[in-house]
Amino acid sequence: MSLADLLRVAPGSTPDLTAIDPAGTPGFDGDKDAARDRLKELRDELADFQERLWAEARQSLLIVLQALDAGGKDGLIRKVVTAFNPQGTRVASFGVPTDEELRHDYLWRVHAATPGKGRIAVFNRSHYEDVLVVRVNELVPEPVWRERYDQINAFEAHLAATGTRIVKLYLHISRDEQRRRFQKRLENPDKHWKWSSGDLETRSRWDDFQAAYTDALTRCSTAAAPWFVVPADAKWYRDLAAAEILAETARSMDPHWPEPEEDLSGIVIPE
Ligand code: ADP
Repeated sequence: MSLADLLRVAPGSTPDLTAIDPAGTPGFDGDKDAARDRLKELRDELADFQERLWAEARQSLLIVLQALDAGGKDGLIRKVVTAFNPQGTRVASFGVPTDEELRHDYLWRVHAATPGKGRIAVFNRSHYEDVLVVRVNELVPEPVWRERYDQINAFEAHLAATGTRIVKLYLHISRDEQRRRFQKRLENPDKHWKWSSGDLETRSRWDDFQAAYTDALTRCSTAAAPWFVVPADAKWYRDLAAAEILAETARSMDPHWPEPEEDLSGIVIPE
């Protein structure tokens, strides 16, 4: 079984987040140094894939990143997503909706950021916030967010049917690791900008978020748009696992170099 297979949430199954060790390293028995070497190889593979994806210009890749605060989304973008050429890759971050966004349906801003043919989009948070923070903080009534799982599945199935591969990564950290990371932020003035008083409020709803994540992973891991639970206490494993999942996806997408428009064999470049 590949590492990706181990971390994928099988469609229709309910992952038990309390039974998935955030400090675990499933599917990899090497150490941190071995992981670094492997990540280097995978980054090369991903870079090559992205060039073929761009040249072929027929398929798109959408990577959805979700995690609790300090879960490592930013680090993952820095360590793995940077393997892709920035020309052709876009990171879209979704924060508290603006007034204009609130005047539209919740998928409006998300749909606008989906990748065109040959492109990669990374969602740093996503439409899943609309069944996570929105649910936990009771920003809309329960019947409204309950309907969203089916709406999200229909939306993602539509994207998949029109040429977009979707990979969704939930970075799974422990409550203890979040405390350590928050504490480090507070001790380092260079990280104070990352601190928000709302982080403690969110942390205090830990169990509610775990329940909301469990439902989102259960209801919305589909064949067309699978969820992966990535143990993320060890940053090196998080990066390696994400890169393995993306590389496996890249191999199955297998974009091809387009045929040249004309026969190039007789062309001689003049002096
Ligand atoms: P991050 O924590 O991802 O680095 P920010 O500090 O800007 O980025 O946090 C974004 C905030 O926006 C998070 O607290 C998140 O829960 C919130 N958010 C995102 N989408 C929504 C939404 N649809 N409704 C309410 N809040 C949202």
